[in-house]
Amino acid sequence: MASFDQRAILARLSALRAADAPTHGGRVLSYVYDSGMPELDELAAEAMRLVQPVNGLDPTTFTSVAVMEREVVGFARELLHGDDDVVGSVTSGGTESCLLAVKTARDVWRAAGGSGVPRLLAPVTVHAAFHKAAALFGLTLDLVPVDPETGALDAAALTGRIGPDVALVVVSAPSYPFATLDPVEAVAAACEAAGTACHVDACIGGWILPFWRAADGSALPLWDFRVPGVTSVSADLHKYGYAPKGASVLLQRGRDRQRRQYFATTGWPGYPVVNPTLLGSKPAGALAASWAIIQALGARGFAELAESCRRATRGLQDIVADIEGLRVLGDPTGPLLAVVTDDAVPASRRVDPHHWADRARRRGWVLQLQPGLTQADGTHLPHTTHLTITPVTERRIDELEAALRGAADEARGVPPVDAAAVLAALPAGLADLGELDSATAAHLLGSIGLVGGATPGLPDDQAPLLALVEALPRPLATRLLTELLARAVEPPA
Ligand SMILES: *Cc1c(COP(=O)(O)O)cnc(C)c1O
Repeated sequence: MASFDQRAILARLSALRAADAPTHGGRVLSYVYDSGMPELDELAAEAMRLVQPVNGLDPTTFTSVAVMEREVVGFARELLHGDDDVVGSVTSGGTESCLLAVKTARDVWRAAGGSGVPRLLAPVTVHAAFHKAAALFGLTLDLVPVDPETGALDAAALTGRIGPDVALVVVSAPSYPFATLDPVEAVAAACEAAGTACHVDACIGGWILPFWRAADGSALPLWDFRVPGVTSVSADLHKYGYAPKGASVLLQRGRDRQRRQYFATTGWPGYPVVNPTLLGSKPAGALAASWAIIQALGARGFAELAESCRRATRGLQDIVADIEGLRVLGDPTGPLLAVVTDDAVPASRRVDPHHWADRARRRGWVLQLQPGLTQADGTHLPHTTHLTITPVTERRIDELEAALRGAADEARGVPPVDAAAVLAALPAGLADLGELDSATAAHLLGSIGLVGGATPGLPDDQAPLLALVEALPRPLATRLLTELLARAVEPPA
């Protein structure tokens, strides 16, 4: 048996981890959800360790998996007001929950006689996971424009497009880009009347909106299983369930429709394969951690953490409103915000949200840049900067405020990156290159300084990169980004 030097191995990993963006302390306002309770992280780590060798593939062999999943689904169902006709699965994350909601709806649609290519109908603010689902499961995406001023969906603009080829309508509670709570009641009513499935993507809101109130203190419009016509809801445990990555819940109304989520076969000489989710063999760690956290917090614990997020979000809305040249886009619901340039002030006083994010990053606060987008009706959604607020944010709000104000002061009056100039600096004829091979794509990335450095990672200033994403033809932008990410994990030659 070969011996190994555990300390040296883990020391290297610790060194690598030290270069990561901080996962705790609230300095990264996306991706990570710090409850601010180290004892909760400890509990989760211990729970993961206990199930480390388990294979979640077969809950009849590893019965702990069935018990934990049943209890997590039961808690989620109560939280989202499902009756006993609502059943569900724990999945590996939001994307998998969304994929399975689409796969189920497609197969229900086909079983009901649908033929040809089904359509997935949603506002343009729907999460990219549904673009992925449409691509993987063979649906066309029909994206309905939203109000470019507020990010809000006009329900009639969507419901007017429901037709027999629509296998699924998706709305969000709330949307990731702008935190808009879509008009779930109006959309679901139209879906029910048409016999069309309606998924509520509450990946980010599912574990916190149940404890949320509107700015004036009133209850939110209904968005969960209390709304007739809602056929499925996704809610991520690894966001406001405070679990380690790898856990989400997909709830479906109706056992018979949910059974279409499963893949089952006895058509090979091995064990019968019966999978409710995409993976075969699968870890149980994030499930165990989620299960443990739910028991530790209970509804009261979740409510307290939500209250902290709500106070911090209100505070940040006020801070942004008070920064000349910036404003919060629309009317966000939940612990997230999109910040946009305030065009009401003269250009010399405006703050570009991407320059703002880059300046904040130099001060140690990582905000998320979101590109602008031209909608199907020709209107343009402005580029924005996204902030996700977590329970630790409240404790650091003064430091954060200082950074946001300081960054705005530095960026005020600096014009947005000129996309045309960015394009002009690229090698000629780029837009007509057609299908790029990997070498050409890498060469292009190298010419703008994005590939070939010592350590993988994005440049400190991301505004120029986002301007490029906005300006390039979409297939070219996605091809270059694919190359960038692929090269980041390639072993050295
Ligand atoms: C995060 C998110 C998803 C996708 O979830 P992942 O866990 O990142 O796969 C889908 N929809 C919304 C609204 C989200 O916020």
